Amino acid sequence: MEVLFTPWRSAYLSAGGIDPAAGCLFCALHKQGDEDALVVHRGSAVYVVLNRYPYTNGHLMVAPYEHRASLGAMAGGERREMMDVAAAAEQVLSAEYRPEGFNIGLNLGRSAGAGVAGHAHLHVVPRWDGDTNFLTVLGGTRTIPEELPATRRRLAAAFARRA
Ligand SMILES: [Zn+2]
Repeated sequence: MEVLFTPWRSAYLSAGGIDPAAGCLFCALHKQGDEDALVVHRGSAVYVVLNRYPYTNGHLMVAPYEHRASLGAMAGGERREMMDVAAAAEQVLSAEYRPEGFNIGLNLGRSAGAGVAGHAHLHVVPRWDGDTNFLTVLGGTRTIPEELPATRRRLAAAFARRA
C-alpha cells in the first residue's frame, strides 16, 4: 500500500520561484497570477492548483486561502467548500482525462508525508492502470505527457464552464 502515499511526497518546496524559508507555499501561491502559480480555480474559501511536480498528469491540490494546519483548524464553511471543490476537481479530471481511478486525500504533518506541513491541502490524483510501473521505471523523473501550462489552461477552462 506504500504506493498510495507516494503521491503526497512531492518535492514541491522549491517550486514556483517561492523561497520556502520566506514563508508558506500555499499562503504565497494564491497571491500570484494563475499562470505563474498554476492555479486552475479560485473559490470563496479555497483554491485549486496544479502540483508543479505531479505524480500523474492532472495532479491537483485544493487548499484554503487561510493558513490552516488541519481539518479541525478550518472553519466549517472552508471544510465543506474543500470537499465540494474536490468533487468538482474529480468531475473535471474525469471529463478531460478519463482516468481509471483517483487517490484523494490529505497528509497532515511531516510524519504523515506532507511536503508542505502547516497548511492543509487535499490532493486529487488521477490514476491509470500501469502508471505506477511507468513512474517506477523512470525513477525520480516526472515525465508527463502534457506540459503543465497546457494542463492548467485546459483544467481552468473546464472549471470555468461549470460556473
Ligand atoms: Zn499557509
